[in-house]
Amino acid sequence: FAEKVNKSVGDVVKVLFALGMMVTKNDFLSKDEIEILAEEFEVEVTTMNPLDELDYVAAYDAVEDEQLEERPPVITIMGHVDHGKTSLLDKIRSAKVADKEAGGITQHVGAYQVEKDGKKITFVDTPGHEAFTEMRSRGAQATDIVIIVVAADDGVMPQTKEAISHTKAADVPMIIAVNKMDKPAANPDNVKAQLAEMGITPIDWGGEYEFVPVSAHTGMGIDDLLETILLQAEVMELEADPTRKAKAVVVESSLEKGFGPVANVIIKNGTLRVGDNAIVGKTFGRIKAIKLDDGTNVKEIGPSTPAAIVGLNEVPGAGETLIVTDSEKEARELAEKRAEYEREKQLSKSTKASLDDLSELIAEGKLKSLPVVIKADVQGSLEAIKGSLEKLKNEEVKVNIIHEGVGGVTESDVTLANASEHSVILGFNVRPTGAVKNKAKELGVEIKSYSIIYDLIDDVRALLGGMMSPVI
Ligand code: GDP
Repeated sequence: FAEKVNKSVGDVVKVLFALGMMVTKNDFLSKDEIEILAEEFEVEVTTMNPLDELDYVAAYDAVEDEQLEERPPVITIMGHVDHGKTSLLDKIRSAKVADKEAGGITQHVGAYQVEKDGKKITFVDTPGHEAFTEMRSRGAQATDIVIIVVAADDGVMPQTKEAISHTKAADVPMIIAVNKMDKPAANPDNVKAQLAEMGITPIDWGGEYEFVPVSAHTGMGIDDLLETILLQAEVMELEADPTRKAKAVVVESSLEKGFGPVANVIIKNGTLRVGDNAIVGKTFGRIKAIKLDDGTNVKEIGPSTPAAIVGLNEVPGAGETLIVTDSEKEARELAEKRAEYEREKQLSKSTKASLDDLSELIAEGKLKSLPVVIKADVQGSLEAIKGSLEKLKNEEVKVNIIHEGVGGVTESDVTLANASEHSVILGFNVRPTGAVKNKAKELGVEIKSYSIIYDLIDDVRALLGGMMSPVI
């Protein structure tokens, strides 16, 4: 700003200080602050968001698809540890891929495709909600449908609940696979009852969730599960326009000897071809090779196809979106500008929502609901806190509990809070470990710990108070 109005940085900072804004020369100014400054210095300004210009994904999405065609659904499997996510992924893959090409060499490309009744389904290889939410927090939604795996002999466990919260927060439909049905101790009705209690009521009990009994060991129910996925996909009318240039999401990436940066991607829209120029975040490059999950090299791939691609100049981050550009120059320039923007942004280390920022937003009427994650040491306290928080709701504002659980604050809680804008984690008689604290700090997520329920409620009430009575 100082440069543009021919003043020294000192002069500008002085004006801001006088107005009560403690800034340094590396800080980013808000639109309001810039307008106030413009008035002080009697200059005219037009503000624009630099990211708007650099947001190549938004620019891609702004163009309308013309030749929409059905595309395969992309599936992620989640659930509690040891409930059989990996086994299920392996079973589906071996059952369906093997009959296509017995003994064929499979290639790890981050996801694989199977065929059922002439229709394809894409499965993301990395099960688990951390990866899922990590990707979402980067703005990429790779998954169309989530399969929640629950072991029939074990029932709903803490990570089952976490997985469900993450799926709900992402607003992705879910199908419940009740696994380990081959075990004598299998009790699918117990799983149904436990989930129904959480509002995940099975269709045959009058609810809206498909429960499919399966066994990753015997293969029982796998066909049913695939059929259920295809039915759900049909309802969702998943479509893409294969005539466009490609948009893809990076599922994983690595640096490989002899190949350089390799990105495992799933095509979201359009067709990706060898020879295309593409940008992925701060990275760009010309696609040199496309390798499928069956190990074959191909010249082009269409919507929902997973593949490993070679040719980018650096390793892109998981969850970043790849877009094909018209020229190498366009890809390079965009990538460089984005890199520069991020460097500057990094310099002005802004943190996410602290409670103070939140109450300010609330007071300004910019926030109508407060997303929270609640963790408590025992179920009784959790219920008491929930009850009290729900009572705080009124017509204007409400507390939105995006996840609740008994036990310590976990990294998963932090990634979940991070993915939902302006949310905080409230812990009662539980404290985050050092690793969790570091993660929260790194992402700028606030964790508040309490040992008196009244204090917790009081803090939230004070926050909502801002929502209820706007101050000028
Ligand atoms: P993950 O942690 O959810 O990926 O679970 P795994 O796939 O690693 O499975 C955990 C354990 O449960 C392994 O010992 C599997 O062999 C076993 N398991 C998985 N699915 C089944 C099943 O359908 N039946 C039986 N009996 N065991 C299973």
